[in-house]
Order: sequence, then structure tokens, then C-alpha cells
Amino acid sequence: MVYEPPIHEDTIVAVSTAIGPGAIGIVRMSGPEATAVAEAVFRPARAKPLQPAETYSLLYGHVLDPQTGEALDEALLAVMRAPRSYTREDVVELHCHGGLAAQRTVLRLLVRAGARLAEPGEFTRRAFLNGRIDLAQAESVAAIVAARSTGALRASVRQLEGGLSQRLRALRQEMVRLLACIEATVDFSDEDVETLDWESLVEGLTSARDALGRLLRTAFVGRALEQGVRTAIVGRPNVGKSSLLNALLMRERAIVSDIPGTTRDTVEELMELDGIPIHLVDTAGMRSGGDHVEQLGVERSVRAMEQADLVLAVFDLSRAWDDVDRQLIGGLDPVRAIVVGNKRDVVGSDADVVAALAAHVREAGDGETPPGWRVCAVSATTGEGLDDLRSLIQEVITGGEGLHLDEPVLASERQRSLVTEAYESAGAALTGASREAGEELVCEDIRAAVQALGRITGEELTPDLLDEIFSSFCLGK
Ligand code: GDP
Repeated sequence: MVYEPPIHEDTIVAVSTAIGPGAIGIVRMSGPEATAVAEAVFRPARAKPLQPAETYSLLYGHVLDPQTGEALDEALLAVMRAPRSYTREDVVELHCHGGLAAQRTVLRLLVRAGARLAEPGEFTRRAFLNGRIDLAQAESVAAIVAARSTGALRASVRQLEGGLSQRLRALRQEMVRLLACIEATVDFSDEDVETLDWESLVEGLTSARDALGRLLRTAFVGRALEQGVRTAIVGRPNVGKSSLLNALLMRERAIVSDIPGTTRDTVEELMELDGIPIHLVDTAGMRSGGDHVEQLGVERSVRAMEQADLVLAVFDLSRAWDDVDRQLIGGLDPVRAIVVGNKRDVVGSDADVVAALAAHVREAGDGETPPGWRVCAVSATTGEGLDDLRSLIQEVITGGEGLHLDEPVLASERQRSLVTEAYESAGAALTGASREAGEELVCEDIRAAVQALGRITGEELTPDLLDEIFSSFCLGK
């Protein structure tokens, strides 16, 4: 599908800063009439005409009601001429005072002067339709705005620069080339001019599928960056869950006490580990029995554990190991769990502590060592061992792949499912080609992969795709 850059005839306007009290509120316009509309409501302090203002000029002045001539706000006016603007159209920003009344007044004046209220994401949609960015980059704009951690921000900014798009485009081109090779032999098959080189086709498909597989392995990190990692801290009362939460957060948040069972509700906190947002949930102690309130807390811990991406199971190293501990271990999923022995300072800090703990874990798992149990000994009080715990957490989050935030990451659910689709189609094509099955079938699979990749960047569009992407944007973006 080839796109003619659409020429928008209307000029759109929206408040681009968060609505509400604030020092500055920015009202943005984009479209052919942007400067004309701005001129109708803005009087520069020095009678300097807006047209033909150079691009990137900034004027100081007042917003006036054109009907009464009354000055309504003091403002700066920024002019960015097409095509050197966010949308590639003429863009004008009015930097007014923040606050609901000021922003609404200016917005109303601009609409009266000829602008139309923008839909959510319409500025970025125009940037895409005018060819300034592709769809994966447009999504990264939404991700930058939503970023809750430095890592999420870094990955989104990389994506806006186009790292992921370049990689996807190269992969798609390679698949298109393979498709062309097959199609050429199909076209000529009657004349017996060329026969298909299945071997090099298999080679090409293998490397394309593997490259897609590598990209897919970033999906977990992408999801973690986008949504945060839900982490439950579970364990019996008084083992030091709240203290551990505080030590990880390095400030007081959860209530710490020596009376068992004080953490009756769940406490949630957001922390950042190597740039990845982590939601820590400190749950009530796991102890059967107890009063009604505590029982509710236990149920909540079980639920938190089921919903968690990561479970920190805390044990007290200074106490003897018993059946309840074994039971807790038995309920853990080793892929997502880290066994944390706390109060290491009490038992001395020799390396045997970890070995003894690991032996308990093994024993609780019926003598078998489940692959990949992660075990560490820490002291929430002295901070000993917390760095080991942090690196284990990173291991669980990245599936042992390590964090490479400068590499392209699949940042949205849409991208992840399309790359999965492309990966599966490439795999099916590879299977077909290895068996030298019919050319047509192989072509069909490759075409499906090409299409899925094209839908990530927007080289292939379906009618609802743009609405699906841009409707999730906030107003003014
Ligand atoms: P929770 O019920 O599991 O949340 O346990 P708390 O965090 O409330 O801690 C229970 C008690 O153990 C408190 O008196 C803490 O000061 C103490 N405690 C927690 N962590 C450590 C530790 O690493 N070393 C020592 N010596 N005491 C700790």
C-alpha cells in the first residue's frame, strides 16, 4: 500500500499540557490556518507581524478577545513552520498560564477563530500520516508520556529514534526478497528457466526466524518496562518482610513491629531496579489460624502470590526450619520465585548459610533440586546481601538474558503479538521449505510474516489500525 501524504485542510487545537493548576499551560495548534488563527487572538508586545515569522520563533504578548479587545492572558507564542514541526504542518503553541479557566478561555477563542478541537492522538497521527514517523515510533511517543521509570523512558526514546523500526524493516525486506526469489521461479516454471534453490531459501528463512526469535526474547523486558513487575513479598509473620521492603526502598513505608501478624493488609510500593519499574507488595504473614482479620490477610497473600510476576519468599534464618516453611516452599514456582533467608546478621555471615538454606529448599522439593531455584541470604537490618538479591531479581525479570536497554525492545502488546505472528509464520515457511513442500504454501506463510511486520511500522495498514493505536493517546498528543 503506497501512501500519498494526506493534505489536512483543517487546523486542530488542544491543550497539550496536563489539565489542571500549573504554572504554564500549552495550547497547541496544527494545520494550514494555525498562524492565521493565532494572529486573530494574539497581540505581540512589539508590533511585529507574525507572517512571515521564521520557523522556531518565539513572541511575547497577550491573548485578546477579538470581539472586545480585552486582554485575557499574558503568553508566549511559538511558531514552527511546515515541514519543520512535530506534524510537518504549521504548528503554533501558545504558552499561557496554567489552570483550567485560563486554558479553557484560550481554547474557546481559538475554536471561535477557526480551529477544530483535536481528537486524542491526532497530532501524532498527523506526524505519521505526513511521513515524519512510523507507527512503532508513534507508539513510542505514547510510551514516553506513560513512562514510569528511567529504563522505560530510555527504551521509548531509543524507539522514537527508530532503532526497532530499522530492524523490523530490514527483516521485512529480507522476507520480501525471499518471496521474490520463489515467485520468479514459479512464474518461469513452464519455461523451465530457473528452478528454486531450496537450500538457500531454507538458509534465508532460518536466519529470519532466528532474528525474530531474538527480538521476541525482549518481549518480557518490554512488558516489564511498560507495566512494571508485580512483586509479592511473602513469608510467615515476623520473618522481616516489612523490613526487607523498607531496605529495598531505602525508606520507611511499611510498619515494622515485633508483634507477629502486624502487617494485616497489603502495602504496595513502586521502586526502580536498573530502570525497570517494580511494584512491591508486602503481604500479611502466611500463618494458618489466627484471628479473622489475619485470616483475610493470609488469603490476600495467596492471591498476591498468584498474581505476581515475581515472588520474594522470606524465611527467618535465626529460627529452626519446620513444616510450615516446607509447605511454603512447596507452593512456590521456581521460575518466578526467589528464596530469601533474612536476619543473616544474627546467624553470622559465613557462606554456609546459603548452602544450608539451599539444602532446605532441596529437601522441601522431595529431595530433587528443581532447576534454577534462586536462593540468597540477606539482612534487612544491615543491608548485607541485598545486592545479590537485586541481581537475582534482575535475572528473573530478564529470564537470565540480562538487561540491554539500548537494544530495541518490543514495547507494546501490539508489537509483541505481531512479532509472535511473524515468528510463527516464518517458522511454518521454514518447515515447508525444509520439506520442499509446494512453493505456493511457502509463499503464503512468508507473505503472512511480511504482513505482520509491516503492520508494526505501518507499511501495511488495516482500516482500524490507526484508530486502535491513536485512540489510546491522551488529548493534545
Ligand atoms: P514481618 O512481620 O515479616 O513484616 O517482619 P518485620 O519486618 O515486622 O520484622 C519483624 C522483626 O524482625 C522486627 O523486630 C525487625 O526489627 C526484625 N528484623 C527484620 N529483619 C531483620 C534482620 O535482618 N536482622 C535482625 N537482626 N532483625 C531483623
